[in-house]
Amino acid sequence: MLNLVIFGPPGAGKGTQSQRVIDQFGLIHLSTGDMLRAEMASGSELGDQVKSIIAAGQLVRDEIVIALIAKRLDAHAEAPGFIFDGFPRTVAQAEALDHLLTEKHTSITGMISLVVPEEELVTRLVKRGEESGRSDDNEETIRKRIVEYNEKTLPVATYYQGQGKLYEIEGVGSIEEIGDRIAKVLKAFQAQ
Ligand code: ADP
Repeated sequence: MLNLVIFGPPGAGKGTQSQRVIDQFGLIHLSTGDMLRAEMASGSELGDQVKSIIAAGQLVRDEIVIALIAKRLDAHAEAPGFIFDGFPRTVAQAEALDHLLTEKHTSITGMISLVVPEEELVTRLVKRGEESGRSDDNEETIRKRIVEYNEKTLPVATYYQGQGKLYEIEGVGSIEEIGDRIAKVLKAFQAQ
């Protein structure tokens, strides 16, 4: 199996680049942000529970997102692999994911970390907010999400680095240029 984590701060382009990898490798895309937005849109109890947390730019509780991921892993038992997008966002989530994958006799192949300077992120997300109307894409909340990222999520990169699985990619350039940089790393995985 090819199991990838696509990693980076809010606005780094994880969703965009995931789509290219899915098209190329037929992986199942597991985005906790998309799952949580779907819960909010459906008006489920869980959706109502997380709404104010997301709008405030904070992280949803680990148990909630781990349960969402566990359910999807079970639902796609025959998948050729997964691309995890926006998850794991804490070291506790990374440990839980390792555990879930071990139970399925597989593991994370590598983490693709998109590196983008903070001011570029804010510019991109403010623009996305104007187009999409996402409740958390306004400058005040964006800054809070970046603080959350630096405090709680960056240690996840160190976690995978400790396993020799961290691949940093320059995340500034055209969508194609960045996609080509990622494709090079993935080719190396396939050759392994
Ligand atoms: P972005 O990467 O642009 O911040 P996402 O769509 O991945 O956007 O996430 C949006 C929000 O959903 C996050 O700010 C957070 O509140 C919540 N969220 C998504 N994934 C997780 C996760 N793995 N753990 C905790 N909260 C999450």
